[in-house]
Amino acid sequence: MSKETRDANAEGRPSYKDTLNLLQTSFGMRANAVKREPELQSFWSENGIDLKLGLQNSGPIFTLHDGPPYANGPLHMGHALNKVLKDVINKYQILRGRKVRYIPGWDCHGLPIELKVLQSMDQDQRQALTPIKLRKKAAAYARKQVDGQMKGFQRWGIWADWQEPYLTLQKNYEAAQIKVFGEMVLKGHIYRGLKPVHWSPSSQTALAEAELEYPDGHTSPSVYVAFPAVELPAPLRDALSTEGVELPGDADALGKTLQVAIWTTTPWTLPANLAVSVNERLDYALVDDGEGRLLVVAADLIDSLATTLERPLVRKATVKGALLSGLTYRHPLLDRTSPVVIGGEYITTESGTGLVHTAPGHGVDDFHTGQKNGLPVLCPVDEAGTLTDEAGPFAGLNVLKDANPVIIDALETAGALLKQEAYGHRYPYDWRTKKPTIFRATEQWFASVDGFRQQALDAIDRVEWTPASGRNRIEAMVKERGDWCISRQRTWGVPIPVFYNRSGGDVLLNADTLAHIEALIAEHGADVWWEKDEADLLPPAYADQAEQWRKGTDTMDVWFDSGSSWAAVSSQQEGLGYPADLYLEGSDQHRGWFQSSLLTSVAVNGHAPYQRVLTHGFALDEKGRKMSKSLGNVVDPMVIIEGGKNQKQEPAYGADVLRLWVSSVDYSADVPIGAGILRQLADVYRKVRNTSRYLLGNLHDFNPADDTIPVEKLPLLDRWMLQRTAEVMDEITEAFESYEFFRFFQLLQNFCVTDLSNFYLDIAKDRLYVSAPSDRRRRSCQTVMSLIIERLAGLIAPVLCHMAEDIWQNLPYEVEETSIFQRGWPTVPADWRDPSLSEPIQRLRELRAAVNRVLEDCRSRQELGASLEAAVRIETRNPELESALNWLNENGDAEADGLRDWLLVSQLQLGGEPWAELLADQTDDTAIIEVSRARGIKCERCWHYESDVGQHTQHPTLCGRCCNVLNRR
Ligand SMILES: [Zn+2]
Repeated sequence: MSKETRDANAEGRPSYKDTLNLLQTSFGMRANAVKREPELQSFWSENGIDLKLGLQNSGPIFTLHDGPPYANGPLHMGHALNKVLKDVINKYQILRGRKVRYIPGWDCHGLPIELKVLQSMDQDQRQALTPIKLRKKAAAYARKQVDGQMKGFQRWGIWADWQEPYLTLQKNYEAAQIKVFGEMVLKGHIYRGLKPVHWSPSSQTALAEAELEYPDGHTSPSVYVAFPAVELPAPLRDALSTEGVELPGDADALGKTLQVAIWTTTPWTLPANLAVSVNERLDYALVDDGEGRLLVVAADLIDSLATTLERPLVRKATVKGALLSGLTYRHPLLDRTSPVVIGGEYITTESGTGLVHTAPGHGVDDFHTGQKNGLPVLCPVDEAGTLTDEAGPFAGLNVLKDANPVIIDALETAGALLKQEAYGHRYPYDWRTKKPTIFRATEQWFASVDGFRQQALDAIDRVEWTPASGRNRIEAMVKERGDWCISRQRTWGVPIPVFYNRSGGDVLLNADTLAHIEALIAEHGADVWWEKDEADLLPPAYADQAEQWRKGTDTMDVWFDSGSSWAAVSSQQEGLGYPADLYLEGSDQHRGWFQSSLLTSVAVNGHAPYQRVLTHGFALDEKGRKMSKSLGNVVDPMVIIEGGKNQKQEPAYGADVLRLWVSSVDYSADVPIGAGILRQLADVYRKVRNTSRYLLGNLHDFNPADDTIPVEKLPLLDRWMLQRTAEVMDEITEAFESYEFFRFFQLLQNFCVTDLSNFYLDIAKDRLYVSAPSDRRRRSCQTVMSLIIERLAGLIAPVLCHMAEDIWQNLPYEVEETSIFQRGWPTVPADWRDPSLSEPIQRLRELRAAVNRVLEDCRSRQELGASLEAAVRIETRNPELESALNWLNENGDAEADGLRDWLLVSQLQLGGEPWAELLADQTDDTAIIEVSRARGIKCERCWHYESDVGQHTQHPTLCGRCCNVLNRR
């Protein structure tokens, strides 16, 4: 079909469509993000629009110090939430003119990577593996993982110093970490002590949790044992007396009368018993066992114990666990008196007696309870699992072979055995030898938190925690935590740089050795510890003693690695601040990185490494469940961006929709994500995009230099639009300043849909399309649109960075800045602000909404099509509306502020006589609204119904207004 035929109507006259000023823009309706976003990212990197922009800023430094993700595995929604939040903050600060250098980090050491390397090898290869070979493989593996994750982060539009990230395996990082450790040593915060670890007697090594298996069918010889009391604390004696239980004062007599009952599945640990622990909140009963003695057991367990012990148990008295504290008892097999102490919530009434046999050398809970109560760490078991001399008469027995039966016999002989029974339960085995493991205290390195606990608490107090509950969390944890065990019996890590005397006893760890090893690591990396022998690792002054020293084989806890990042990165590198302005991680990091960073920084420098800590929750599915492969509810950020296998079900939304999701959620709690939520977000994204497209598309013939109308000369509606934009800009700025990005999301959506699309731009259509191109009523509207689109692009830039740049690249006129990010954060010109406009226009918007409801009513009855088919009569019944109408009448611009045009109807009558023929009417407190069909004929060009259509010979189907426009062309 030729253009001529298509545009000609039945009478063969030309179509007037071409005389309208229609939308023209290269800014697509669809984002086409899979192709367009990478193009924009290339544009940024080619033009230095990224991190470099932040470095060039002259404002004060803003440091968001990155918490290093673990360099293992594919990226998930948790990474997306974390990194996008950080990027939104950084981009906002860059736009605000702050000097921003964001260095991304990765946590590269530790067991998971060590295991990955081991799992990739067969048995023979593993046998031939030396520590240094393992370390080289682990480093290569970690670097590969870093590369993969980095590509993902970059595709999300994250700006960072990708050329020089920090990795905990870099030599300068490792050296800085050694320095932190060294300073803690020199300040007396590091000591060596015993701590129970999983120990495999069969391979004579400590094992990590990940190296344990729990095979079915393990059975232990469990025993119920009674420990005779020696002395009662006065409050307990008084409490019992009130309940009518009087006990002898003499120790021997007391021990025969009162005994505390415990239960254990490891009788071999009884020689290491140093306490019995109770839960201070539980009720404990003294029960008569029918054999002339009172046993102390948990009150809730009386019945089940009576069955198990096969004897009647008659309650004589009940006391709270707290009262039992301080009771002392005699070890039934050894000449030793020990106390009852308060344990923790791990003591329950699910099994046993509710009183827990406590051997701090052989259990983690036991150890912590021991620490709290000042008990020593007794471990009478050697590396092979043989009881030592400290086990008295049982020395020489093996804990996994003959120790249990001998000890049980001895208990029976001593009259302390209440019951023995086989007990099936989960029990840890060595994954290599398939033999049972034990808990055994070994020499470990600790940071003594007591040495700087108060300083740490003071530092917490000075930090700003968002949400505020974070302060209580970390405060409680730091208050109650024990010393920090920082040594690991692993290979893939930073060495604890200590030398042990080969003849036992002392260790070599001082300023000289620390400085020397730090220098070696700075030069060669931590591998040097494994590559060189003692003679080369010791400082020159100790060279002649090399023979007597053996280098340690422990590495540091990986939390010490990442917890030293303030020392390796933010306090050391140019363009960064220490303490950093902000740390931002998941809320589990109060236990992890926030805390380890705080402890090391406080121990060395006496203050926190951050000024503010922001936490986010975790990504859940739409039903609020954790994501897991087995539930099939895992959302993959890459699938959100690139689409899934079935693009109908999983369309490619692009990185901006992922980023919009991050901005939309209240991240202080756990946040949901799923297909339904993504569809809604894509809808919001499209609305913002289409609003922007409409603004751009109507500026194709607008040249700001020549066509701009000064703000003070703009019609009322235009000035109101600028005033409204100013309000929104203030609120969005406030939302970014307070890190409440969900408010940005709501404000943006409301601004685009309610203020622009449904109101201002809806009314503007006539001015934009129908007027002559250079009419003042059109240029004034274009002036406003141009002012708004340039600011809207800036306001969305931190979140919808790709769309913002795309808008900028499609501005139809010249601007000074190559990129939106060079423009800076949008500011409100002073002459935009005119709050006096808000009140009357709000009244008129409400009137417009009311009229629209009546028109909609007519439309739904199919009595009316477009609103221009309508004539409306309004009679005000409310003084505010009355004065708003008067205000508009007196101040409104003749060409642009006609209420008839604002209502999009062809005729409007204010006041006057009621109409006879109505399509609909409505009366409320504000106004009477009457709607009838518009008089006149529809103008073919502007669709208004006018009485003068048909009176113009040159254009018989047009209204006079349109004729005028055409005659001036
Ligand atoms: Zn017309």
